[in-house]
Amino acid sequence: MIPPIASRFVAGESASEALDHVSDLNQGGIGGILNLLGEHYETREAAEEDVKQYLAVLAELEATDLITSVSVKPSQIGIDAGEDVFVENLGRIIEAANDSDVFVWVDMEDHTTTDVTLDAFSRFASRYGGDVGLCVQANLKRTSSDLERLADVPGKVRLVKGAYDEPETVAYQEKERVNQAYRENLEYMFQTFDSGIAVGSHDPAMIDYAKALGEAHQTEFEVQMLMGVRTDAQYELAKAGYEVNQYIPYGDRWLSYFYRRIRERKENLLFAARAILP
Ligand code: FAD
Repeated sequence: MIPPIASRFVAGESASEALDHVSDLNQGGIGGILNLLGEHYETREAAEEDVKQYLAVLAELEATDLITSVSVKPSQIGIDAGEDVFVENLGRIIEAANDSDVFVWVDMEDHTTTDVTLDAFSRFASRYGGDVGLCVQANLKRTSSDLERLADVPGKVRLVKGAYDEPETVAYQEKERVNQAYRENLEYMFQTFDSGIAVGSHDPAMIDYAKALGEAHQTEFEVQMLMGVRTDAQYELAKAGYEVNQYIPYGDRWLSYFYRRIRERKENLLFAARAILP
């Protein structure tokens, strides 16, 4: 059982709890992005456990009218066990999702995985007519050229700032430089993509910039935020008519994810302390 303190950021240990959360969100005009927590499996067998859980939740979704996609991590479905394992498993998940009419997002991990992830995404996006999306990270110096490549590939693109500690050789280090890159990447996306733009950020400045670009280019976009982060803003954006999708982690490996959320922000630490102290 997930303790109440963690349930702000994680929907539950089971898929059914996550689906209940999606149902609540849908009633408030927000879509879901289900993410089974798990990463860095080194064997095909370990990855298979999570692949099976994704296949099960996709089968379950087929029988519902819930508005949700799924988002998978490459190292959760075998990239550390071998490129072939990852590509095979991603193909199985996308095929099942396609049968259930569910959109699949591919998360992006550290820069050593970018080429393989981008190649696999491009292949499947072309095969499945764009019913897949890829995350790209503004902190990586290569992202502007990756976006040029993605402009010729069907599917959606989620732009985030980047969550991994990366070396200076490949990534901008200063917050302001990452923000500048985020703005530049957004500008390129709005200039070049007709649709499929996802703004994966809680930053009011980036969301305002996306709104202005959307207005100027008359292009729609979606906002994606994490469960438990700026929830009021998520509902306000949805109420104002923007497409909002919430990334919903669930599963029994919630502890390290919860610690990460708590550590990244002083307010979250206070929230945790208030919940623990009498
Ligand atoms: P930050 O630069 O962290 O913060 C900027 C401003 O946003 C803050 O000053 C504040 O005003 C506001 N803000 C930020 N956090 C909070 C908070 N907790 N409470 C209140 N206000 C806040 N990273 C990857 O590397 N790969 C992925 O696949 C990936 N997928 C993601 C999917 C989604 C849907 C989201 C939202 C993020 C994802 N990330 C991913 C994480 C991302 O890279 C960033 O690390 C994370 O989103 C923090 O950056 P930020 O843009 O939200 O703003």
